[in-house]
Amino acid sequence: MSFIDRTLRSFLLLELLSGMSLTLRYMFRKKVTINYPYEGSPLSPRFRGEHALRRYANGEERCIACKLCEAVCPALAITIEAEPRDDGSRRTTRYDIDMTKCIYCGFCQEACPVDAIVEGPNTEFSTETREELYYNKDKLLANGDRWEREIARNLEMDAPYR
Ligand code: SF4
Ligand code: SF4
Repeated sequence: MSFIDRTLRSFLLLELLSGMSLTLRYMFRKKVTINYPYEGSPLSPRFRGEHALRRYANGEERCIACKLCEAVCPALAITIEAEPRDDGSRRTTRYDIDMTKCIYCGFCQEACPVDAIVEGPNTEFSTETREELYYNKDKLLANGDRWEREIARNLEMDAPYR
């Protein structure tokens, strides 16, 4: 660009006008941004968020302490201890997930034969300390109770593709 061109463009404020016209054009288009946290973006039914342990409708824990999730976890984030109940059924006495180790691969969910351990749709579980990310069975069951409706719906939507 010649010296005269550059000087003319500066004096006539052409760059400024071109920038303002671009702004004006986008002002009336559909917005692509969202007002987070007041608005959420759509999530796939396969989204792998915070973990939860589910119950059956009668309140009984789904987990049968088979330990497949513990065995498959590549991050060694899951720790399970189990013993038989008086009625002979096998249930966990301890189910911990160290969420600071978890890589959200979803293998635990895939391995579970009874859809007990799942990765739910919750994305908002940041904490201020590491200790809060050591989840125990009570915390995981509470997550399951809280998100059961969304989790069940997502599993149902994904079922034809599994
Ligand atoms: S999502 Fe993957 S890394 Fe995390 S607990 Fe499950 S199997 Fe382990
Ligand atoms: S959560 Fe599922 S895979 Fe893990 S021990 Fe319980 S039943 Fe087995």
